[in-house]
Amino acid sequence: MSLLTQNATPGVLSLEPYKPGMPLDELQRRLGISDAIKLASNENPLGPSPKVKAALAEAIANQDLALYPDGGGFKLKAAVAKMHGIDPSRVTLGNGSNDMLEFLGRIYLGPGRAAMFSQHAFAVYPIVTQSQSAEAVIVPALPRSHPTMPLGHDLEGFKKLWRDDISIVFIANPNNPTGTWLPAQAIEDFLAFVPKQVIVVLDEAYWEYLDPALRGDVRGWLDKYPNLVVTHTFSKTYGLASLRAGYALSSPEVADLMNRVRQPFNNNSLALLAAEVALSDQEHVKKSVALNNSERARLEPELAKLGLSWLPSQANFLAIDFGRDAGPVHQALLQKGIIVRPTASYEMPNFLRITIGTPAQNDRLLKALREILA
Ligand SMILES: *Cc1c(COP(=O)(O)O)cnc(C)c1O
Repeated sequence: MSLLTQNATPGVLSLEPYKPGMPLDELQRRLGISDAIKLASNENPLGPSPKVKAALAEAIANQDLALYPDGGGFKLKAAVAKMHGIDPSRVTLGNGSNDMLEFLGRIYLGPGRAAMFSQHAFAVYPIVTQSQSAEAVIVPALPRSHPTMPLGHDLEGFKKLWRDDISIVFIANPNNPTGTWLPAQAIEDFLAFVPKQVIVVLDEAYWEYLDPALRGDVRGWLDKYPNLVVTHTFSKTYGLASLRAGYALSSPEVADLMNRVRQPFNNNSLALLAAEVALSDQEHVKKSVALNNSERARLEPELAKLGLSWLPSQANFLAIDFGRDAGPVHQALLQKGIIVRPTASYEMPNFLRITIGTPAQNDRLLKALREILA
């Protein structure tokens, strides 16, 4: 090992780089085809609102791109605050919501401190924890045989494994890569349990897909628990993954701390504009969620006919259980021009995480699965 590597902090040394899915271009080059599809990263198959595209075209023609963007993100913050009915002092903007997870890691984690999260939770939580040389306290997920929420977060288990060195808890609701969710009451009970100086991150990247009947009173929780940080993204339902924008809702005190570590211009001007316009088109959100729900309902019985099972999902993807190592199915799908997400790195080697696409994409997926499994 070279001196330069040896001299890295222990946390960084122990890190495995995040492995993103294969880009469409790469698969198309490899197979010599031009119609590959990507159902791997939970993007919105409808893309962003047409209003966003129009606003971006106009901005590229008329904005002075030589000038730095508004570092305070005044307009987007105001739009987010208005939508959630809270004061703009409680909104922090990020270059994707992952940016916020990193801010919190830099503020609250370090050697001698720990972060707690579930087994099979979002990959960025261990990355943030290890890069700060902090310890990860990983709580076993509910068992595969659980009657209602197999492999879901076990908040009672979080309480049992509690330690005094924990300074952040990460909870994804719904969770990626499982799609599972938590009862609002369980989240509220957990917030009441956690010591007041410990940050609880409620990662709501898939919030828009969560059935409104299952949603908690997040605004009420924010009022009651100043240690709660709720993160949202423009990468999923809003269809803006490539532009990188997300936000956090928190107490003004925690927002102030996040603003101290945030790079002054972490959001570019086009992302700020696109996110603001995207928020204003809630019809597009409704349309996207409706398509997702109807396609999920159509996919599930077809998967059952193939003898497959899957985890319950309130998101725009399904974690499908192949009952044996899913690696060969992943490879066979690639050969047919379909990129999905293997979940072996999430300790779920028998599963593939498949984003719910357009009707045509889902038909192609089903046809491919029928051929592969025949
Ligand atoms: C996709 C995803 C995010 C969003 O990441 P961005 O940085 O906003 O693109 C955050 N949390 C979870 C659980 C996700 O699946």
